[in-house]
Amino acid sequence: MTEAWGPDDDKPRRIAGPVRVRVPAKINLHLGVGPLRADGFHELSTVYHAISLFDELTARRGDTLALTMEGEGAGELELDESNLIIRAARALARKARVPAHARLHLRKTIPLAGGLAGGSADAAATLLACDLLWGTGFSKEELAEVGAELGSDVPFLLHGGTALGTGHGEAISPILARPTTWHWVVAIADGGLSTPAVYRELDRLRDSPWPPTPLESPDELMAALRQRKPEVLGAALANDLQPAALSLRPALSDVLKAGHEAGAVAGLVSGSGPTCVFLATDARHAEQVAALLAEAGVCRTAVTARGPMPGARAV
Ligand code: ATP
Repeated sequence: MTEAWGPDDDKPRRIAGPVRVRVPAKINLHLGVGPLRADGFHELSTVYHAISLFDELTARRGDTLALTMEGEGAGELELDESNLIIRAARALARKARVPAHARLHLRKTIPLAGGLAGGSADAAATLLACDLLWGTGFSKEELAEVGAELGSDVPFLLHGGTALGTGHGEAISPILARPTTWHWVVAIADGGLSTPAVYRELDRLRDSPWPPTPLESPDELMAALRQRKPEVLGAALANDLQPAALSLRPALSDVLKAGHEAGAVAGLVSGSGPTCVFLATDARHAEQVAALLAEAGVCRTAVTARGPMPGARAV
C-alpha cells in the first residue's frame, strides 16, 4: 500500500509494504556563482528547474542496510558507504534514532556526474522512501535539513518545481509562476565531469581570489518565467560555470553549436556539465531537435524532457 505525498501535504504517512519513490533530475535555468567562502563552498544564486528524467528508488524491509542498482552507471557507481543513498539512509536513521535497516534498489536513468544532480536526487529519494518505510514522519522541511548536509541540491530535489536557490544552493524558495510546461532536449555526453574540478577551473579562469562582487538576483530570468514565451526564457538562460566546463571539455562547444543548428531556441551547459540542455518551443519541436542532435553525432544520446516536475514522490 503506497500513498503519494501531495504538494501541500507535509506529513507523509507510514507505508507497510515496499516503497517506490520517483525523483527528477534538475537543470539550472540561471546559475550565478559568487566568491569562494571560508567554508569551501561558493556563494550561489540559482534558479533550479526539475525535469522529467527520473531515477526510481525502491525500499523494502530488511535486517541490514543493502543497496543494489540497475541502469545508468551500473558496475561503475560504488554501492558502499560512499554512495549518497547509503549516506542518506544512515543520516535519517541517526536523526530518527531508528536502526538503518532497509533493502534499497535503484533504477538509474540520470547519468553519472552529468551536471543533473543525480546523486543528490537519489539522496532525496532515499530520505523520503526511508521516512515512509520507517514511519519516522518527518516534514519535507525536516528531510530537507538532513538532505542539505548530504548535498547542496538535495533540498530542491525534495521540493521540485522551479525554485530559487541561495546560500550554497541549499536554501530554497519556490518560484510561483503561472503554470507553464517548458520543453527541453537533454544532450547526454559520454563520461562525466567532476563538479569540484569545474568549480576549481572557474576560480582559475577568474584569476582567483575572485573579487567579491555581490551576486545579483536572477531578476531577468524570473521575469522571463512569468511571460511564458520560449524565446524570452531562452534569452535569459545563464550559467557562470559554462566557461569552466567548456575549458575542461572543449568538445561541448560542438554540442552547443549542433543544438543551435538543429533549431533550438537556446542552449546551455547544465550545471557543471557535461550535459547540455536546449529549450524547444513545444513537444514536437523538442523531438525534432533531439533527432537532429542525435544525427549530428556530438553526444551519446539526446532525449526530450518536460519541466517543471514535482520533487521526490512515492508512486
Ligand atoms: P551535481 O550537479 O550535483 O554536481 P552531478 O550530476 O554532476 O552532480 P552526480 O551524478 O550527482 O553528479 O554525482 C557525482 C559523484 O557523486 C559521482 O561521480 C559519484 O562518485 C558520487 N555519487 C555517490 N552516490 C551517488 C549516486 N547515488 N548517484 C550518482 N553519483 C553518486
